[in-house]
Amino acid sequence: MMPNTKLLIATNNKGKLKELRVLLSAAPYELIAPSQIGLFLDVDECAKTYAANARLKALSFAKASGMLTLADDSGLEVDALNKAPGIYSARYAGPNASDAERVDYLLSKLKDVPVEKRSARFVCVIAIISPDERVRLCSGRCRGIITTSPQGTGGFGYDPIFLLPRLGKTMAELSYDMKNRISHRARAAKRASQLLQKLSFK
Ligand code: IMP
Repeated sequence: MMPNTKLLIATNNKGKLKELRVLLSAAPYELIAPSQIGLFLDVDECAKTYAANARLKALSFAKASGMLTLADDSGLEVDALNKAPGIYSARYAGPNASDAERVDYLLSKLKDVPVEKRSARFVCVIAIISPDERVRLCSGRCRGIITTSPQGTGGFGYDPIFLLPRLGKTMAELSYDMKNRISHRARAAKRASQLLQKLSFK
């Protein structure tokens, strides 16, 4: 199917963008990164839920571009930390920390936590804002266990310490295709892709 219109992906996160490009490839849209249209927006993610933050990002980019826009808000919830870092996952170790520093910081918080109490989940909420400003939300989750040290070099963010018990590998040890089959983002994007196909026929 030929793309019939453009869809702006409202993120500056290269890891997310790369995954979303593959995950949404079945939707009949040409996917556009903000940098392709010279749009550099730093949205203050001040809302208290993934859904509200996803909506906020999508609306800000949609208003600035006038385009059909999709945003992803995601995070890691660790049960032993009362679901932290959650919506604060990107800023957990300070605003300018690297992925490796965030991973180290999280591991330090779990220093004395035994393996049976290291359960966690990744959560992703995708918001799509259509030109009539209607907001549609799709979500996905993926369960895992936080390891005691990083393993693997794939993916991004907290992937090297997120173990998938059934596969016996961290998210960063999975092939690119495998992560895109089982991740929280894959699950949310599957629903988003179906919605986008319906929208394209309206
Ligand atoms: P935000 O959605 O921009 O608030 O950022 C979400 C943050 O959660 C990212 O910067 C990562 O630290 C983390 N995160 C979200 N999705 C993933 C993933 O697929 N793998 C690893 N970390 C993730």
